[in-house]
Amino acid sequence: MRVAPLRCSVCNAPRKTGQCFKCGSQTTPAVDGWEEPELPPIDRIRQLAKEVGYAIGVHGSLERDLDLIAAPWTDDAVGNYALMEHIAAGLGGKIEEISRKPMGRYAATIQMDGYYKQIDLSVCPCEPKEKMYEGD
Ligand SMILES: [Zn+2]
Repeated sequence: MRVAPLRCSVCNAPRKTGQCFKCGSQTTPAVDGWEEPELPPIDRIRQLAKEVGYAIGVHGSLERDLDLIAAPWTDDAVGNYALMEHIAAGLGGKIEEISRKPMGRYAATIQMDGYYKQIDLSVCPCEPKEKMYEGD
């Protein structure tokens, strides 16, 4: 008999034991036939971001969603919304939500077409809020 995989419903993530190591909740067996969604292709996202002047860093545990940090990397980097749209379109997906984050970041939740974990793309601002170090 196949044993159902355990999941934490609070963290929405797979777990190996009866108690979630992260939040302490009791885990529950996944519903019959449950399969974890695939991670979206990080290399493809990096390539899409590079096309419009951004570099991508992976941040977080990769278990619930794919947490990414996008940093403007070239002088001709597009604006944050154009980056979000370029990545969503390039994956055949869509932007589901955009929220404001500390220090001028904006984060987009992107769902790629197919059975994939969501992408949480946090985009750093292009313009510094304070005067930056520019040499002596
Ligand atoms: Zn948990």
